[in-house]
Amino acid sequence: MTAKIIDGKAFAANVRADVATHVARLQEENDITPGLAVVLVGEDPASEVYVRNKHKSTIEVGMNSFEHKLPADVSQEELYALIEKLNNDPSVHGILCQFPVPDHLNETDIVARISPAKDVDGLHVVNAGLLATGQKTMASCTPLGCLMMLRDHYGSLSGLNAVVVGRSNLVGKPLASLLLNDSCTVTIAHSRTKNIEALCRRADIVVAAVGRPEMITGDWIGDGATVIDVGINRIPHPEKEGKFKLVGDVHFASAIEKAGAITPVPGGVGPMTIACLLANTLTACCRTHGLTEPEGLTA
Ligand code: NDP
Repeated sequence: MTAKIIDGKAFAANVRADVATHVARLQEENDITPGLAVVLVGEDPASEVYVRNKHKSTIEVGMNSFEHKLPADVSQEELYALIEKLNNDPSVHGILCQFPVPDHLNETDIVARISPAKDVDGLHVVNAGLLATGQKTMASCTPLGCLMMLRDHYGSLSGLNAVVVGRSNLVGKPLASLLLNDSCTVTIAHSRTKNIEALCRRADIVVAAVGRPEMITGDWIGDGATVIDVGINRIPHPEKEGKFKLVGDVHFASAIEKAGAITPVPGGVGPMTIACLLANTLTACCRTHGLTEPEGLTA
């Protein structure tokens, strides 16, 4: 069997187009433009690229983008003062602080300062708690992107057996909660899990969120299972000296022979993350103004 490749790039383009349509309608009918504020501390080159891409995508869907670049030695008080200002700014519906931040700042404390209603990254404990208790929440972008692709592939996820490999607060745990809320039977595997290959082989859905290049090989995958590869790993290019190559946590060439459907890296989960950030900003804006939330763009 050779798996269907789930095209995350095309899926994300559809989500962004859908968001753009809703934004245009909000402007026309309510004279409201959703706004996303991104805070970048320091000059990490990878973070600068991410922030630039977020800015471009935000503008493209017709939203306002507010970029705040702070020096690497900014004090905690100054950063918190900016977050407080953004919390109180009615033109800002979503706030995201790009991580990692310099060592003198604490990521958990930063997230705690962001108003849960504007926490479009879905990392605030209030949103994590709402998700864990099956209530309306703001779901983290990457897990939300995975959920959207799985719902699209299956229609209903009810009763399916899912194994999520990875238990981070950013990906593994929220995705497990999302799948559970959609009535999957969920197993969370991690570095201490015994017989992890056998667990994965029995699953209808295997999600890899580990951060280990190509760890999950074809012999971990049951016939016809769906494989969602969240991993993004830069490894030395096997043929081009001095160059790098992006690979996932799944060994694509062997997994595609066993799976029924699989997301590639790049071009799978990655593009969905920014698309879901825009979807969450739109959702936050609708909730703030008591307007109907767009269908299909939330958990
Ligand atoms: P973390 O490092 O926070 O978590 C990794 C998880 O994998 C941990 O729970 C860890 O277990 C588990 N793990 C590590 N080694 C093994 C192993 N040998 N067997 C089983 N489990 C193992 O990573 P993140 O969740 O933040 O990210 C995971 C991957 O997803 C990374 O490649 C990252 O780059 C990528 N990513 C991609 C995004 C996208 O937009 N596509 C967004 C966010 C992340 P334990 O808890 O026991 O240590």
